[in-house]
Amino acid sequence: KLYNQVQDLKGSIRVYCRVRPFLSGLSNYMSTVDHIEDGNITINIPSRHGKGRRSFNFNKVFGPAATQADVFSDMHPLIRSVLDGYNVCIFAYGQTGSGKTYTMTGPRELTEKSQGVNYRALGDLFLIADQRKDTFNYDVSVQMIEIYNEQVRDLLTGLSVPDANLIRVLSTSDVIDLMNLGQRNRVVGATALNDRSSRSHSCLTVHVQGRDLTSGAILRGCMHLVDLAGSERVDKSEVTGDRLKEAQHINKSLSALGDVIASLAQKNSHVPYRNSKLTQLLQDSLGGQAKTLMFVHISPEPDAVGETISTLKFAERVA
Ligand code: ADP
Ligand code: MG
Repeated sequence: KLYNQVQDLKGSIRVYCRVRPFLSGLSNYMSTVDHIEDGNITINIPSRHGKGRRSFNFNKVFGPAATQADVFSDMHPLIRSVLDGYNVCIFAYGQTGSGKTYTMTGPRELTEKSQGVNYRALGDLFLIADQRKDTFNYDVSVQMIEIYNEQVRDLLTGLSVPDANLIRVLSTSDVIDLMNLGQRNRVVGATALNDRSSRSHSCLTVHVQGRDLTSGAILRGCMHLVDLAGSERVDKSEVTGDRLKEAQHINKSLSALGDVIASLAQKNSHVPYRNSKLTQLLQDSLGGQAKTLMFVHISPEPDAVGETISTLKFAERVA
């Protein structure tokens, strides 16, 4: 019994790893991933990084052949719990180009099959809400924000106030329209020179309010779907000005996130939520009864091995 309780508590933070396939013609024998077995992944480290092998353990590892459906396949209980009144955070972490947006949203040319976690989660949410319609009445509303240089911007309303506006949605297609709008606003805000999306965090938040039709009791749950800024370290000797400032803000917020999740995983009494905008905004949904899923992404290319190892170390620390 006690063992089960411990398992349940530990079960509130899960870490999954996903390996992107090669995008060019390179074949998999070039991959830095030596092998994957259940929750274990072994990386080949080339000589200039201190030749050898290194293994990491997570709750799950998805190899390059995993489909969007595979990745979502065991997330149904997590979505169900949002409708039961729990708060859930799902994060995508990894260097730029490792597949974060692919996992959360999908490829640029989206088909039903290639839809990512965001679409599937919302689809599931409306499906379960409908199945419960004789006992519960659910209201679903969404918000989409971007955090760039520790500043929060609402991507749907253009306001810079964190909890400015929630927009009521009735179906997945409403959400798709809003996500497209948010995406367009994100692009408009970017400078012509650089792709801002890789250097800002974007967060789709879904609030659910359920009314028990017999007792009238109200329950509230929410789900944050977060596509984090690229985790790559920039060489301080090579960037200056705005790029350096961006890099410092990203480092600060990603390490603050790592610190919060690691201290929750270790059940520390002090959890350092105040160290970044991201962790402040998500405070109610990290720890306590909330459930966290950290999806870390790695690229298979040999020249990415340095970032791959640091991503896996980050993930190992929060697992
Ligand atoms: P990130 O958001 O981490 O910068 P992207 O999601 O944009 O990375 O992925 C980079 C490129 O790789 C995109 O062209 C994307 O469509 C492709 N890609 C990423 N993951 C996969 C995958 N699992 N299968 C096929 N293509 C992928
Ligand atoms: Mg991206």
